[in-house]
Amino acid sequence: MDFSLPESLGKTLADIRAIVDHDVIPLEEEFGKTGLFSKVEPALKEVRAKVKARGFWAPQLPREVGGMGLTLMEHARVSEELGRTTLGHYAFNCQAPDAGNMEILMQFGSDAQKDAFFAPLARGDVRSCFSMTEPDAPGSNPTWLKTTAVKDGSDYVIHGHKWFTSSADGASFAIVMAVTNPDAVPHMRASQIIVPTSTPGFRIVRNIPVMGHSGDSYASHAEVKYEGCRVPQANLLGAEGAGFAIAQERLGPGRIHHCMRWIGICERSFELMCRRAATREIAPGKPLGTKQIVQSWIAECRAEIHAARLMVLHAAWKMEQKGAHAAREEISMIKFFVANVLDKVLDRAVQTHGALGMTDDTPLAAFYRHERAARIYDGADEVHKEVVAKRVLKAHGLVVG
Ligand SMILES: Cc1cc2nc3c(=O)[nH]c(=O)nc-3n(C[C@H](O)[C@H](O)[C@H](O)COP(=O)(O)OP(=O)(O)OC[C@H]3O[C@@H](n4cnc5c(N)ncnc54)[C@H](O)[C@@H]3O)c2cc1C
Repeated sequence: MDFSLPESLGKTLADIRAIVDHDVIPLEEEFGKTGLFSKVEPALKEVRAKVKARGFWAPQLPREVGGMGLTLMEHARVSEELGRTTLGHYAFNCQAPDAGNMEILMQFGSDAQKDAFFAPLARGDVRSCFSMTEPDAPGSNPTWLKTTAVKDGSDYVIHGHKWFTSSADGASFAIVMAVTNPDAVPHMRASQIIVPTSTPGFRIVRNIPVMGHSGDSYASHAEVKYEGCRVPQANLLGAEGAGFAIAQERLGPGRIHHCMRWIGICERSFELMCRRAATREIAPGKPLGTKQIVQSWIAECRAEIHAARLMVLHAAWKMEQKGAHAAREEISMIKFFVANVLDKVLDRAVQTHGALGMTDDTPLAAFYRHERAARIYDGADEVHKEVVAKRVLKAHGLVVG
């Protein structure tokens, strides 16, 4: 494994950092304080135009569809840079959930689906959402989904109740996970179906308040009802019953992107923490950083962030070399390990800032509000730990069902 940066990527990262520092970070204060994305959307539109003009648009997409054509390892590095602010990925059109939706549309979409749904998403003309989790079924075991899509003539008719459909507010379409084959084996019951949000029966009940903010537009998590949504069967993504297989494809690279984004947040929070430790005097001539316990936090954060980055790059390398399936254990390991490093680094950064850490005068509170969920979405810690432990135990002769 060679984790050194190619020279050309080093220059790209420096250019991207300059845009993030100069154009994106100044917007985060307004967003952090209100939680309202609509307040910064017009300014971000201008930043997006600049990003496109400079050739940094959609780093994760191939060049032939307007992206930068980076490898997973290269995009991982870019994702870390963009993660330094909550608005970074959106500014460069590689934000969740759109990036994952672009990926599965590119991989599994028909030509007509690519024209109608992928192309406008790749251009950044529209947004989308991914609608799987339900309030009345455990997201950790999605084979129990209750939402159904029943064939009627040449259509599917969808009934269901979802929540935490991130970014549904203002999205032009949802990719919905629904049971199409109730009698099949559990992992073959559900399919992914594209539902334009203009479809009669698609109803956003509310943007769910999350840690005090309901948010809006891209930065929101909606409760959604599908009340007899009728869409053509041509909106089925991939094969019928392949919903979980496609979801797995989506989650592999998605977890690399998320983990590197979290490392970007860790680095920014760590920077703020160290600056505060070096300048906040707790007695004349005695900054916080002279205290051994603060030094211990700093050393632990530095080591943990470093370890987390190497683990993610290794997982990305393995995925590139051997495919997502071969890297399954590594992907589960980084998902819970990096989410917990993020949690600890953020917590220590807040603690170092004292009361200031609880305010919205630094980005730390917004980071915490948005990212405590890292240990829950895309598979809770415990689910990923179970995956790793089962594989380890199997090698010792214990097969856990
Ligand atoms: C901010 C945010 C954004 C999200 N965005 C989306 C989105 O865009 N689209 C979407 O479809 N979903 C989204 N989700 C939903 C997310 O994927 C689910 O919350 C997640 O899968 C967990 O499901 P659940 O909430 O139903 O928890 P449950 O399945 O009810 O689990 C609750 C808790 O039980 C524990 N647990 C679960 N399984 C096990 C186990 N096997 N062993 C031990 N303990 C276990 C874990 O601690 C877990 O946190 C989002 C969630 C959040 C918080």
